[in-house]
Amino acid sequence: MSLAPRSDHLFSPDNLDGYVEAMRASVDHLAATVRGVDGPATGASPEQVAKLVTDVDLDRPVGDLAAALDEMSRVYLDDAVWFHEPAYAAHLNPPVVLPALAAEVFVSAVNSSLDTFDQSVGGTFVERHLVDWTCARIGFGPGSDGVFTSGGSQSNLQALHLARDAALAGAADGQLPRLRVLASADAHFSVQKSARLLGLGADAVLPVPIDADRRMDVAALHRLLAGLDEVGLVAMAVVATAGTTDFGAIDPLDAVAGACAERGTWLHVDAAYGGGLLVSARHRHRLAGIERADSVTVDYHKTWFQPVSSSALLVRDRRLLVHTAWHADYLNPEADERPHQVEKSLQTTRRFDALKLWLTLRTLGPDLIGEHVDTVVGLATRSHAHVVAHPDLEAALAPHLSTLVFRFRPPGLTEDAADALVPRIRQTLYDRGQALVAATKVDGREHLKLTLLNPAATDADVQGVLDLVGAVGHELLAGEGRWSA
Ligand SMILES: *Cc1c(COP(=O)(O)O)cnc(C)c1O
Repeated sequence: MSLAPRSDHLFSPDNLDGYVEAMRASVDHLAATVRGVDGPATGASPEQVAKLVTDVDLDRPVGDLAAALDEMSRVYLDDAVWFHEPAYAAHLNPPVVLPALAAEVFVSAVNSSLDTFDQSVGGTFVERHLVDWTCARIGFGPGSDGVFTSGGSQSNLQALHLARDAALAGAADGQLPRLRVLASADAHFSVQKSARLLGLGADAVLPVPIDADRRMDVAALHRLLAGLDEVGLVAMAVVATAGTTDFGAIDPLDAVAGACAERGTWLHVDAAYGGGLLVSARHRHRLAGIERADSVTVDYHKTWFQPVSSSALLVRDRRLLVHTAWHADYLNPEADERPHQVEKSLQTTRRFDALKLWLTLRTLGPDLIGEHVDTVVGLATRSHAHVVAHPDLEAALAPHLSTLVFRFRPPGLTEDAADALVPRIRQTLYDRGQALVAATKVDGREHLKLTLLNPAATDADVQGVLDLVGAVGHELLAGEGRWSA
């Protein structure tokens, strides 16, 4: 008699019928759910969903997948936020392409880990081929390299880690407190967070002023770099952003690269958002100069319509990755000459996310992804025109990529009153499940933000969201009795 517990739930050739049944049930469950979706959100509050979830007793399984799926719907799916809904316009979440979802089947079930060759075999080369292809799109030469990461934050952390160790290599002891990172005030917060994680001082990240279009002011960058020299501080890296999170602004990459080249300063380009322009026929030229970077962040899970996670860090010179390398006797001893991705990654066990991009490119091709990027950029441009023409809405800036920053401010409403309405409009839209929009501050003033990443959304869809903002704004004012529409 065997003492082993039952194993009819393991993925194996013995249980393929069970596997197919489980997958089919899950796919059917999802399709039935999505068919019934009629808005981007249901407006569930944190208290409501917390109770649904914490009431579940994890020590008492429901026993079969069908029952567990039904329960999952109650605790999660029924109130999920749907990024394919045209009135979802909050953060950098795109609807995802089908070939990438097909790839997920293989990513999870085969479960390759991209740390060593003997855990991934062809997977190692699939990832490497995609890295090389992305490097070629950037304009890096044959000596370039990179690695897939969990996201832009990790890519930025690794880039700054490489830059830090490059700056410290060969320097006298005690240099760490002298290192500075220069980035525009609109750079992603992961730059600051990375600096902290890397042991740099609390004020190691110096904000470079921006121009009226919210792009890095290169004259100011030159002055800051020269100023650091004078006081004996070291510019460890300049971070240029290709597509800022709020405004989509692309720093003048070529001029920034010129400033870095004069001093041999590491240039990191954070193209987490703007990286999709690499495959855009219409807008690729706006990344000119990116090929002069030492390192580049690209988030495929934003403007390449991939499911989370899918991102990469790319470096112009593969030797720069040496600062990430580590050799463990049990995994990748120095003498082992087989290819091991773990030597390039901050992670050890790592999902084969690259397969999603692979099946996407092999099925749809890069041009279609680029056309989707062009579509959402066009959508933002036309939506901006709608804001400008709208009597009660005010645009902060013309869009650079696919975000639109604006606010509700009918004539006569004070700045402070407009500020106070922003979170209330946003909350009301969420509570009603009608539209999801984001918010940010512009020069200290509250604004709403649309992030448009759905190529299937129409002008009418987005204008509908904007008009809804106007209507809700008036409704809230009327409710205060301070204003009548
Ligand atoms: C989204 C974003 C990041 C962070 O990327 P994650 O994938 O969310 O970790 C970094 N930089 C910019 C400019 C971004 O827009």
